Amino acid sequence: MLLGGLNKLSTLDYPSKVSAVAFTLGCDFRCPYCHNPDLLSAGGPPVAESEVLAYLDKRKNLIDALVVSGGEPTLQPDLPAFLSQVKAMGYLIKLDTNGSNPHIGKNLNASSLIDSVALDLKADLTDWPEALAPKTADGTSPATKILQTLNLLKDSGFPSEFRTTCASPFVTAQAILSLAKLAQGDIPWYLQQYRPDTVANPAYMRRFPDQPDENDLLAFQKLASDYLPCHVRLASVPRTPVPFTAAQLPTAPFPSLRGSDALAQVA
Ligand code: SF4
Repeated sequence: MLLGGLNKLSTLDYPSKVSAVAFTLGCDFRCPYCHNPDLLSAGGPPVAESEVLAYLDKRKNLIDALVVSGGEPTLQPDLPAFLSQVKAMGYLIKLDTNGSNPHIGKNLNASSLIDSVALDLKADLTDWPEALAPKTADGTSPATKILQTLNLLKDSGFPSEFRTTCASPFVTAQAILSLAKLAQGDIPWYLQQYRPDTVANPAYMRRFPDQPDENDLLAFQKLASDYLPCHVRLASVPRTPVPFTAAQLPTAPFPSLRGSDALAQVA
């Protein structure tokens, strides 16, 4: 597994559970607003998988769950092997995905390696903006794959949530309505605010200074609520690992580690 970071403790990333969050390296999307740009390249600074597993083994009586986020975790060929080891320690596992690999999610569900999924709905799937992710080499739009993942989750009844970062120009009232119709059902949908502080493509995002505000998100929520349970997360909490020294006490957001130097502190 190519891992690029570890949040040691989180009470926000797995519903009602204390979790750790492992960030994988590499992503097949290029969202200009991506808040973890240093995870996009698989050549970023790695964290040793063995050290993450050792950390989890040591904390298994204190932490309930591991959230595997990214980057895009389903790009990792050895994801099932990694998750098997985590599962053997008794952890619940949640997968955060952009939905581009529905077959992987299906296999993971079938093999009982994951307990929960969070799927990002980034834009109108009927009018996919290639600025988020271009078509694949075989000409398939990412929207096709995301829709397959969405339908897989809806049909399976698997514990899931949908998430959307409300960033202009990708999320508009029209996009919300279109997505709500596609996602219609019981799976909860969380709308969160765009945060301009650290983004993958600042030049692109500067072209859209008029970003959805709290009132816009509440209006989006109202639109979507006719179709599925929809919630707004107004207080955006950073998920990016931040510098941490052993002397610091955990405060929300909890201490995080990046890179193998930082991981050495955990041992
Ligand atoms: S926001 Fe998620 S899907 Fe988009 S580039 Fe970043 S890691 Fe990839």
